[in-house]
Amino acid sequence: MKNELLTELRRIVGDDWVVSDATLIESYLVDVTALPVRPTPGNDVVVVKPANPEEISAILRLANENLIPVVPRGGGTGCVGAAVPTRGGIVLSLERLDRILEVDRDNLMVVGEGGATLEKMLKEVEAADLLFPPHPGDEGAQLGGLVACNAGGTRAVKYGVVRQYVKGLEVVLPTGEIVTMGGKLLKNNTGLDLMHLMIDSEGSLGIITKVTFRLYPRFGATATIIISFEDRHAAIKAVPKILQTGVIPLALEYVERDVIEISAKHLGMHWPAAKGNAHLITIITGSSEDDVYQQTSDVLKVCESLGVVDTVMAETREEQADILKIRSELYPVLKPQVSDVLDMAIPPAQIAVFLDMVDEIARKYDTRIITYGHAGDGNLHPHLPMELFERGQLDEVKKEVYSAAAELGGVITAEHGVGKIRLKEVPLCIDAKSIELMRGIKRLFDPNDILNPGTAIP
Ligand SMILES: Cc1cc2nc3c(=O)[nH]c(=O)nc-3n(C[C@H](O)[C@H](O)[C@H](O)COP(=O)(O)OP(=O)(O)OC[C@H]3O[C@@H](n4cnc5c(N)ncnc54)[C@H](O)[C@@H]3O)c2cc1C
Repeated sequence: MKNELLTELRRIVGDDWVVSDATLIESYLVDVTALPVRPTPGNDVVVVKPANPEEISAILRLANENLIPVVPRGGGTGCVGAAVPTRGGIVLSLERLDRILEVDRDNLMVVGEGGATLEKMLKEVEAADLLFPPHPGDEGAQLGGLVACNAGGTRAVKYGVVRQYVKGLEVVLPTGEIVTMGGKLLKNNTGLDLMHLMIDSEGSLGIITKVTFRLYPRFGATATIIISFEDRHAAIKAVPKILQTGVIPLALEYVERDVIEISAKHLGMHWPAAKGNAHLITIITGSSEDDVYQQTSDVLKVCESLGVVDTVMAETREEQADILKIRSELYPVLKPQVSDVLDMAIPPAQIAVFLDMVDEIARKYDTRIITYGHAGDGNLHPHLPMELFERGQLDEVKKEVYSAAAELGGVITAEHGVGKIRLKEVPLCIDAKSIELMRGIKRLFDPNDILNPGTAIP
């Protein structure tokens, strides 16, 4: 980058907050995308750490004048290369905008800066005896990143994804204007809803500097049950039947026993359900122990008529925590042998059919594709093994898995986003006119295509 530009950036944010030393910026050039598919960072990247929206505005105006790409950077926990600066230019880190500004108990809202971490926000919300329900797996994610990716997680069955909680945003547009969208409002029909356009825009339409999230009262009690079935079709058939009882579990996760046991063994722990191969990890929450007991009985009663082979109820808080630990460590344990983790959304009742289709594809390529995920909301993560990458078959297999999902009315990403690594497959499930409209919206917000170019919109 030209010296005059570096000087100007230093003038805006201060000398200490412009970093170009290769060893110091290394961690800003990656996210958690599996290595074989992670995009390669561009050369000549400078990391800039502004302190407020006004500085961000000045940086974006400078970038527009000089046509320099700017990549907003949150916690770097994204899984699709969206935060990787592939073209050289500025990585704009939000880390200094890290304050939780207010927990408003009367309006049931929390207001925080875009660079505050989920961990920090949860601490303050819990201290106020309230609940922010969405919980993607890494609490190092920042509030702006959660909104930019519309994060989901295991609790989406009962509580929905981040989109349902965003009530207000402050955004710096690519052209430098600072705008406010929404507020502490539960209803708002004033004009076109630009705030919801920002949600899931993956840093391509604006930089989120402040977020207002809706909160809920904490639940009074929880139960964790592993409901085991002999085969996946029986397990998946039980999912809509459970939901039809009127009990909406906090989480309803599908795992296969031989897979979850890999994680347990790696952690030196014991998976408590020994029967059946298809397991539903079911977490039930309620206002009191009695409420949870009643809901649990309703769920188990309906499962009895559906061929359940065993149910294991975690009796203590520690047993509940162990089950969740084994489940949440599954991806990190498998990651070294995985070349790409897909993120399919399928109509929930079709999950077992999709799993069979994936097994068929795996057989054709003489491999195993481990698949598990959020059964309650039809979101599965097929793990494509490293050997497919080594054999040069990764793209071919991925396309077949995507096509299988599309055939069932699914889409190629449920919660991780398109990022930079899934752009070419978007047309498999979105029509050409819709893509043209998305490109038009991007041009309107960002006429010079400086903000996170080549991300989210094909
Ligand atoms: C172990 C693990 C488990 C996970 N589990 C889940 C899960 O269950 N469900 C789920 O949905 N996700 C999950 N994730 C993914 C991840 O946590 C989310 O995508 C998260 O929302 C990304 O936030 P971040 O701050 O880390 O963003 P980054 O990775 O830094 O950036 C992601 C994208 O958001 C943009 N961005 C970041 N901050 C801003 C901002 N302030 N303004 C505008 N754009 C911005 C970036 O430019 C980039 O395009 C998991 C990740 C890990 C590592």
